[in-house]
Amino acid sequence: MPPSEFNLIDHYFTRRAKKGRAVALGIGDDCALLTSLPGEHLAVSTDMLIAGRHFFEDVEPRSLGHKALAVNLSDLAAMGATPLAFTLALSLPHPIDAARLAWLDAFSDGLFALANTHHCILIGGDTTAGPLTLCLTVFGSVKPEAALQRGAAVIDDDVWVSGILGDARLALGDYRQEWTIEEKYKPAVRRALEWPEPRIALGLALRGIAHAAIDVSDGLAGDLAHIVQRSNVGATIAIDQLPRSLALAQQPVSIQRLCTLSGGDDYELCFTAPKAMRPRLEQISTDLSLPLTRIGTILPLSEAISQERSPQTNILWTDQNGRPLTEVFHGFDHFS
Ligand code: ADP
Ligand code: MG
Repeated sequence: MPPSEFNLIDHYFTRRAKKGRAVALGIGDDCALLTSLPGEHLAVSTDMLIAGRHFFEDVEPRSLGHKALAVNLSDLAAMGATPLAFTLALSLPHPIDAARLAWLDAFSDGLFALANTHHCILIGGDTTAGPLTLCLTVFGSVKPEAALQRGAAVIDDDVWVSGILGDARLALGDYRQEWTIEEKYKPAVRRALEWPEPRIALGLALRGIAHAAIDVSDGLAGDLAHIVQRSNVGATIAIDQLPRSLALAQQPVSIQRLCTLSGGDDYELCFTAPKAMRPRLEQISTDLSLPLTRIGTILPLSEAISQERSPQTNILWTDQNGRPLTEVFHGFDHFS
């Protein structure tokens, strides 16, 4: 007999959910109860993942479980928040057969491995039949003055990015046969697409150091545009200084720019910080074994607009000689 909705929830989710300090009541009642920490805000973020749009239906379920939570934790990281808890709404295609049960097993393995690493507790959700879709909501905790908001960039701040950009889009293009990548690079490049690491430790380390931050989920061009527009400033970015893998550096410049600027799915942090913070940031990079690269500077809005060749974004992209580029770069947009 196929398992009921409640057996499924119990077997794959309720039993595996841990207890946490902020969780007064977990899965099983009409609501979960979260205790907010004194003097802190709850940080809340939701992300939806739809088969065929955000992931291939036949992607390895363990990596899907990891990634579904990772993309949500990435938003907490970009806010400088400590993860507390999450909910999981799941729509599963009929029938729940042996293959789907094996899928659920691997999916929940990937999900809980990352949840346990970050002490983020599953506190509830919803389970229905329908096209394969995942919707997670994460809850975190942050002191009001420490939240890294998008609108906080200051003129003359350095613009930084963590890790490397573009490998996730490079892997996607390889799967879609838009281009090919050398065999020896494939494992690392695919890992970037399927196993992104949310930069929680970096987000926490940036509290009191960075001004504005965002996670790069839709391509740097789009995400940095959110920072400058919200902060009412401009920016100049040296396009050839964007950190990228050897695999990506071998591709034609047009593909490099597409992957680093418009690609998406990087889940690195882009942030701004005063120049005086450079030594502290170099120390953070060493402590976390995570490259942090300075890619540009925040400008007064009028200066960016007067020099800009690609209107609307307030970002001046320059080549290795400091010359402004005439191309227009956009982030990923589901509706464009
Ligand atoms: P309700 O009908 O009140 O929404 P449900 O019957 O949908 O409750 O769910 C019962 C309990 O199981 C609730 O506590 C809910 O949060 C939890 N739950 C349902 N689906 C999931 C899931 N996929 N993961 C975790 N908890 C779940
Ligand atoms: Mg329900």
